[in-house]
Amino acid sequence: EATTFAVRVAPLGAYGQVLVLAEDQTERQRVEAVRRDFVANVSHELKTPVGALSLLAETIQDAADDPEAVTRFSGRMQHEAARLTYLVQDLITLSKIQGGDPMPIPAPVPVDEVVQEAIDRCNTKAAAKHIALVAGGAEGLQLWGDDDLLITALRNLIDNAVAYSPEHTRIVVSSRAAGDSVEISVSDQGIGIPEGAQERIFERFFRVDAARSRATGGTGLGLAIVKHVAVAHGGEVTVWSKEGSGSTFTLKLPALGGTAVAASQPSTTP
Ligand code: ADP
Repeated sequence: EATTFAVRVAPLGAYGQVLVLAEDQTERQRVEAVRRDFVANVSHELKTPVGALSLLAETIQDAADDPEAVTRFSGRMQHEAARLTYLVQDLITLSKIQGGDPMPIPAPVPVDEVVQEAIDRCNTKAAAKHIALVAGGAEGLQLWGDDDLLITALRNLIDNAVAYSPEHTRIVVSSRAAGDSVEISVSDQGIGIPEGAQERIFERFFRVDAARSRATGGTGLGLAIVKHVAVAHGGEVTVWSKEGSGSTFTLKLPALGGTAVAASQPSTTP
């Protein structure tokens, strides 16, 4: 938008240049503010489990002669340590795909395989809640991208579907061809997302209900990662949701042989 503006005011001469500079400054301030917010959020998110760990360590020391308490508190320490690990892993993934590292060279990806791999990795959590994970839709589709990143994105969507669904429900991962794209959707019968929050859920650390997200082990980064994976593929992710009935997240990605290629890659259509 800044560029369009600059072109339009160019005939105004010196005045135009002043306007252009002002616009640049605003954008730089916005980027800086986003960065500051992010660092503050990360610090806060890291401090919570670290604080809990040090408290628990103290408590264990005081309860040294009560084996039952030691077992209980050390279990909670493991839980907090796991949260810290997930958070750091998600931060590393996010910083890699946000432009820190070059995107992997895109290659043909069999959709059935990445879907199955993502389902397999989420099955234990789903089984614990008696949730059926089902793959459906078209078979044999191929898309153009990076299999590891796509598995990460699908896992995040399926993990969320499991986390925000009640027991004994069903999650369907369905693929279909749509012109130059392949669409993979993850549908759940869960709690749904309030309409007002739907456009914000892809922001880093945004949660509809922070307490619930933490209780389910969420880092608040899952959907930000999904969005960046989609964009890096020249695709997008969209959401449909109704509170109380469920949510469907759809990844739209370039089909093999289609025209869209990962944004940061030279185009080398086979
Ligand atoms: P989190 O780690 O908190 O799950 P995400 O970035 O993955 O973070 O998701 C952001 C928020 O979007 C979640 O906190 C939750 O409120 C909401 N959300 C995501 N997926 C679903 C879903 N399938 N059903 C209901 N709410 C969801």
